[in-house]
Amino acid sequence: MQTVNQNLKPLTLKRNNNNNLEIGGCDLVQLAKEYGTPLYVMCEETLRQIANEYKSAFKYEKFKPTYASKALLNIKIAEILASEDFGFDAVSMGEIYTIYKSGCDMDKVTFNGNNKTKEEIELAVKLGVGHFSVDNFYEIKILSDELKKYNKTQKVLLRITPGIECHTHEYIQTGQLDSKFGFNLSQIDSAVEEILKYENIVLVGLHAHIGSQIFETKVYEDEAKILISEIARINKKYNLKLSEINMGGGLGVTYTKEDNPPSVYEIAEVIISSIEKYAKEYGVELPTLYIEPGRSIVCTAGATLYSLGSSKQVPNATKYFAIDGGMADNPRPAMYDAQYIAEIANAKENAKEEKVTISGKYCESGDILIKDIMLPNPQSEDILCVYNTGAYNYSMASNYNRNLKPAMVLVNRGKSAIIVERQTLEQLIENDVR
Ligand code: PLP
Repeated sequence: MQTVNQNLKPLTLKRNNNNNLEIGGCDLVQLAKEYGTPLYVMCEETLRQIANEYKSAFKYEKFKPTYASKALLNIKIAEILASEDFGFDAVSMGEIYTIYKSGCDMDKVTFNGNNKTKEEIELAVKLGVGHFSVDNFYEIKILSDELKKYNKTQKVLLRITPGIECHTHEYIQTGQLDSKFGFNLSQIDSAVEEILKYENIVLVGLHAHIGSQIFETKVYEDEAKILISEIARINKKYNLKLSEINMGGGLGVTYTKEDNPPSVYEIAEVIISSIEKYAKEYGVELPTLYIEPGRSIVCTAGATLYSLGSSKQVPNATKYFAIDGGMADNPRPAMYDAQYIAEIANAKENAKEEKVTISGKYCESGDILIKDIMLPNPQSEDILCVYNTGAYNYSMASNYNRNLKPAMVLVNRGKSAIIVERQTLEQLIENDVR
């Protein structure tokens, strides 16, 4: 069964009677007029659909879906995912605070990160996050000190580096992966022994995350095997009962026609059957299973609207069309050559296709959003809709060149609502001191 992450565009995308594009029943040209551009648009139906696909695909009694909030977080997105029974993976004080302010259950939050500061650890303890994923020795002592201050105990997972690294086109498995995240397999016992010294830290399981934009399923079997065999080994050696595993996120999405990620059902089938197989093989009870997808939850639901501005034809070379945004609202193409597809949202009757390169407005030659795209007779003031911008766009946005961060609008069944206001010039300078 096809799932949302395999779609190129939001589920509700279509041309309406005016021949304009619409998402969630809202005409994109109207949205651009009403809210201005650049504008992030999130389709609630698409977002809820994938959340439900995860829940129905993971037919596993002790399943706890969490959302990796680094992909996109604001109060409304947190509310929607909490209402779909998702918990949250947070990696900073800002993410923890946003989740807290949205009224979500803090017990469903896991605090991750390779250099949690004292201030962040204190806030997480104070607000009562359910789990810490302990990443390094330095963190353990700080955590215990903060817990003492608040007279609390804390459930923790140990973040391990299982020696698997997987991104779209590469899959490396080594015993000795060189990573800034977590404990190497050879350091696990020392980490367990260190944690056991502290009465207020309770080790309940293991956590790993093997990469992002993953297109294969076998890696998850390898990961499950390592996590479960390590749990069995630790349980025996230390007479402990670790009963939770967190498999991380990573499921890929379809940015272009060339991308071919597995469905949520395929991933779920591999993860669950591997856990059942290895739990039996290593003689441990079926663990509580956490996953923490980010990109696959929010990416397809998101699109960004831009206005086309200046254009220039370099003699005998490229024709550029510039948009009113670029690398500050979507740094992915400049950072790692990410590919996007786009369409002109306004009606274009019988227009001739033209090959153009969409450039951003920022003072970097690398600020190119899409190279060589065919668009129907593009003109200044056309509205360009770039797809699959829900993940790692707004969350990575900056104020480079002192540009304002765009607004975000949620669309559903013909209604639109602002969920993040456009930044103002006054907000831009509010922390500056004369
Ligand atoms: N969990 C951890 C620990 C991560 O580092 C990340 C992403 O970097 C994720 C989950 C989410 O990954 P993705 O957005 O690829 O699903």
